[in-house]
Formats: sequence, C-alpha cells, structure tokens
Amino acid sequence: MAETCKGCSADVNVSAQQIARMLKHLEDGEFERVPDDVYRTRLDACFACSSLQYGTTCSHCGCIVHIRAKLADRRCPKPGTPQW
Ligand code: SF4
Repeated sequence: MAETCKGCSADVNVSAQQIARMLKHLEDGEFERVPDDVYRTRLDACFACSSLQYGTTCSHCGCIVHIRAKLADRRCPKPGTPQW
C-alpha cells in the first residue's frame, strides 16, 4: 500500500460537533477563559476577517478561532494589525 501524506488527506473542515467537543474540553481543563462578551467580540472580528479560512481556521496561526478566542492568554496573530 502506498504511503499517503496525512496532511493532504486530512479534512480541513471542522464540524460544529468537533468544535463543541473541543470547547467542552477547555471547560473541563484548567485553562483561563475570557468572559462570554469578550469571546463574542473576538469571534465577530474573526468572522469579519479576510484571514479566516473554511469558516473556522485562522490562516496566520492555523488555530480554530472558536478555541483560540476563548483562551485568555491568546491574541489575534494578524501581523501588524491584530484584531483582538
Ligand atoms: S487574523 Fe485574527 S481576526 Fe483574523 S481570523 Fe485570525 S485570529 Fe481571527
């Protein structure tokens, strides 16, 4: 059987169910999270951003924005003009 590149075969689309699972994992962990209003403001900026890919992924860091925006110690990685 031929070797295949996992990077090329992986599905780049992340489902709402997968995101919900990741968010639940954050809630169960000891990660410092932002309040809901800050989370919503951050996500609104991501959804209006030209660097968002597939509706879920930041092209600068490769993060799922629904997760990155939830973490208190993370910032928008857009070079020069961070959005949050
Ligand atoms: S550059 Fe910033 S605002 Fe744009 S998708 Fe990435 S994290 Fe969100």
